[in-house]
Amino acid sequence: MIGQGRNAAAVLTVDLDAIRSNYRLLQARAGQATCAAVLKADAYGLGAARVAPVLLAEKCRHFFVAHLDEGIALRPLLPADAELFVLHGPVPGSEQEFLLHDLTPVLNSAVQIAGWTAFARRIGRTLPAIVQVDTGMSRLGLPAEELLACVEKADFLATVSLRFVMSHLACAENQAHPMNAAQLAAFRDVLLRFPACGASLANSSGIFLGPDFHFDLVRPGAALFGIAPVTGAPNPLQPVVRLQASIIQVQSIKAGQHVGYGATYCAPQERRIATIAAGYADGWLRSLSGHGFALIDGQRAALVGMVSMDTCALDVTGIAPDRLHPGMMVDLIGPGQTVDAVAELAGTIGYEILTSLGSRYRRDYLSSAEIGGSTFAEHPAAVAI
Ligand SMILES: *Cc1c(COP(=O)(O)O)cnc(C)c1O
Repeated sequence: MIGQGRNAAAVLTVDLDAIRSNYRLLQARAGQATCAAVLKADAYGLGAARVAPVLLAEKCRHFFVAHLDEGIALRPLLPADAELFVLHGPVPGSEQEFLLHDLTPVLNSAVQIAGWTAFARRIGRTLPAIVQVDTGMSRLGLPAEELLACVEKADFLATVSLRFVMSHLACAENQAHPMNAAQLAAFRDVLLRFPACGASLANSSGIFLGPDFHFDLVRPGAALFGIAPVTGAPNPLQPVVRLQASIIQVQSIKAGQHVGYGATYCAPQERRIATIAAGYADGWLRSLSGHGFALIDGQRAALVGMVSMDTCALDVTGIAPDRLHPGMMVDLIGPGQTVDAVAELAGTIGYEILTSLGSRYRRDYLSSAEIGGSTFAEHPAAVAI
């Protein structure tokens, strides 16, 4: 990709050890349930090809992606005994691709169930699938009665081997929300009709709602990558990403001078301004304009003016000039500012911050362990911080 050279102006560091420890924590919290991993959107923007081997080494054998093409890309990196589920299911006509690439669809609608059943019958094989019941989110999945009607058709259980019945929680990060109990009750009702089949309800936040929500398989994504699972509670997970961008230039501006597009910032008195190499094209969102900050040697520097495509401006007046020089890295996400904190300043959620991270960073992956047969030293891009 254009822009990813040795002279990277911004660096994204992904701590694979932290992902490993987060997976262990989630598996421990899930008790008897099996802990899957959701690696959709290229592992929430962090690189599924680098994340999957870490989880495999932890004996994770159940993976989810959203798109068929994500599944096709990830499947060759997984061993034969790992199952890869595709959340969006097969669009009519794509069933063959699932079979070809050893992908298990989540069947979300009567159309998908009919398509998968017809395909299985046509090739004369029993094919695996998850079925998704909608328990209140109205996003993907069938309402309970519709699902039961589909499944009770004579040929369904003869042609489909049901891996799990699943549903998805709408409000799990808010533990007091009444939707959680309502969805749990609706899900249990449906499961009465599938006594022999495994069940899966919880995403990251759902794991923290307690054992009632765990069933047989939990499906964390965000928590693997350090995003806080419970609103208003301390985050038990380790931070995974560090984002740094370099200072391009430092200048002094006088009272009355403006900064950035729209001239939205006007210096009240003389100010020193550092322009850094991160902008909204890098996922450093424009909505951070006027709210965000960076850390320079642990000291805060406020973002001033509008975030541009490739740059933003920091007020570095309070930082000794001899501590600032072009090319030095400042921290945007890291020890002093979590993904969730940035999200709050930007008026969004940590998920959106992670999945918006740009593609022109240099990406460094930190790992102390040998993963997938290749050692740390064989990845020259990986450097210690
Ligand atoms: C994205 C997703 C998950 C993972 O959710 P997190 O909140 O990131 O843990 C689990 N299940 C389904 C159906 C999803 O779409």
